[in-house]
Amino acid sequence: MRLQDKYKELQSTSVALLATNFYNFETLEGVLQAAVRCNSPIILQLTRSSIDYLGLPLALQMARTAIDYHGLKAWVHLDHGDSYELAAQCLDAGFDSVMIDASEKPFRENIKTTKKVVALASKYGACVEAELGYVAKLGQSTEKEGFTMPEEAGRFVDETGVDALAVAIGTSHGFYKKEPRLDLERLSRIREVTNAALVLHGGSGVPHATLRDAISRGICKINLATEIKNIFMKTLKAKLENESEIDLRKVFPDAIDAVTSLVMEKLNVVNNK
Ligand SMILES: [Zn+2]
Repeated sequence: MRLQDKYKELQSTSVALLATNFYNFETLEGVLQAAVRCNSPIILQLTRSSIDYLGLPLALQMARTAIDYHGLKAWVHLDHGDSYELAAQCLDAGFDSVMIDASEKPFRENIKTTKKVVALASKYGACVEAELGYVAKLGQSTEKEGFTMPEEAGRFVDETGVDALAVAIGTSHGFYKKEPRLDLERLSRIREVTNAALVLHGGSGVPHATLRDAISRGICKINLATEIKNIFMKTLKAKLENESEIDLRKVFPDAIDAVTSLVMEKLNVVNNK
C-alpha cells in the first residue's frame, strides 16, 4: 500500500504512524525489532546527514532489505529534504515518500517549491510531505513563534496538492527544557480546513497523553529522532565505561535493545494501545 493511501485510511481513526530516523545498522535494527514485536507498520526516515553518512544507495537498500527480512510493512521517507535536487535524487532511487521543507522560505516560495516536488513525485507514485510554520530545528531558538495558521494551511494544501503537512503547534526538535504546551485547538482548526495528513515533528519528549490527544485531533504521523539517538548513545556509553571488550558485536546489542524498548513504547501510543 502506498503511504499516501495509508494516511487516508488513518484519517478517520485514532491511530497514527510512527516515523523513526535511523543512522546505522544498529539503530535500524533496534527500530525494526520494535515494529516486529508490536506487529506494527512504521516509517523509516533518513535525513540529508544520514544519507551523506551512509551513502544513498546503501541507506535505502539497507532499509529495504531489513524491512523484507523482518516481513514488515514499512515505508522509506526523506526527512527534511532541503532542496528539490535532494528530493529528486531520493525519488529516483526509489523512496516511498519525501519531505520538502521550505518552511523557512516565504509562503509563496514554499508553495512554489512544494508544488514542483509534488509534480515530480506523482510520476513515481510517491508521497510528499511539506512543512508550514516554524518548528525550531536543532540549535534554533525555541522562543521564536511561528505557529501554522489554519487559513494558510488550507490554501497551502489546495495549491500544492501535498499529501502530508507538518504543522507548527508548539513542538520543536531536540529535547525540551520544559514540558511543551501544544496548541491543540489550533490543530483541530487546521484539521477542519485541510484533508492532508497532518504530521507532528519534534515528538521526542512530548508526554504520551498529549500525543494521544494530538492523534485524536488529526495527527497521522509522529516523528521520533532525538530520543532514539539519546538512548542509543547513553546505553552505549554506560556499557563501554566498564568494558574492555573489543568485539563490537558484543557491545552494541544493549544499545539496540534500548532503542527497541523505546520505540515499542511509542508504537503503543500511536497504535492507541
Ligand atoms: Zn522534523
